[in-house]
Amino acid sequence: MRDTWPLLEQIAFPPIRRGRIDTLQINVGYRCNQSCTHCHVNAGPNRTEEMSKEVAEVVLAFIERHRISTLDITGGAPELNAHFRRLVTAARHMGAKVMDRCNLTIFEVPGQDDLGEFLRDHQVKIVASMPCYLQDNVDRQRGKGVFDGSIRGLRLLNALGYGHDGTGLILNLVYNPQGPSLPPAQDQLEADYKRVLGARYGVVFNRLYTLTNMPIQRFGAILLAHGEFDQYLDLLQHAHLDANLDEVMCRRMISVDWRGYVYDCDFNQMLDLPLQHAGRDRTHLADLLDADFEGEPIRVAGHCYGCTAGQGSSCGGALKEAAE
Ligand code: SF4
Ligand code: SF4
Repeated sequence: MRDTWPLLEQIAFPPIRRGRIDTLQINVGYRCNQSCTHCHVNAGPNRTEEMSKEVAEVVLAFIERHRISTLDITGGAPELNAHFRRLVTAARHMGAKVMDRCNLTIFEVPGQDDLGEFLRDHQVKIVASMPCYLQDNVDRQRGKGVFDGSIRGLRLLNALGYGHDGTGLILNLVYNPQGPSLPPAQDQLEADYKRVLGARYGVVFNRLYTLTNMPIQRFGAILLAHGEFDQYLDLLQHAHLDANLDEVMCRRMISVDWRGYVYDCDFNQMLDLPLQHAGRDRTHLADLLDADFEGEPIRVAGHCYGCTAGQGSSCGGALKEAAE
């Protein structure tokens, strides 16, 4: 797979600095029951990297000391990590909100029969990828049978109360374009999703987040293979809005890999651009337990236009919505 970093690092991006951190995003490993073409962590069933118990304890200590208000757990399929439930339970006990980046088919994996009830009982917010409301598009991007499995997952969550107004059980979906284009307006697409998923499958959810595809990892390699990398970067750069710089997610969160090393965001993690602090090449979360790293520069390059193009994009969808 060709790497886009040698091209991205030559592209200038406006300097930005970290604000106060309120969110800790952790990647607990790359094992996943799916192998989607757009996956920016190249996750799949054969990956063995997994966050250890020791690192999970450092995560919990960091949440306590820095009064982190949201723990955002990603993977792979985060629920496959042996310490997932301990992390959720302890973080909730400390008063943090917990967000699970759930792939919707995980509920059918052996050993996950009670996962839905566990998530409900701990009021875990679910953020689930659903790149289209049409079966063919989902199966092409995420694998044959994934659409039907995802609908079954959504129905299971709905039956537990997720996605219904007034339950406090939040179920948000995530859309990303199939190819090298910017996502459409979030509100309009959300209305379309609600209409089609409701009418055809009886499924309800709270919000739809639209994300821009990042020109890295599998998607970056596909752009290079199709000769579309320059064109896509031009599209992102021409759509860049300075106003989005204030809201990019790296200003208020940091991202931790399965070993406990820290990055400015999930994308920098995938590019292996560690967070820079105190002159270290690589910073472990344990090194930041008592550190003040607000105001420090964030490592930016060409891929960052994926966050500031058009309506903007972050782990919470379009930036205007994510800021609310
Ligand atoms: S479900 Fe998510 S983590 Fe798993 S392969 Fe697909 S995009 Fe990657
Ligand atoms: S990719 Fe986005 S979130 Fe990551 S450093 Fe660049 S602007 Fe920040």
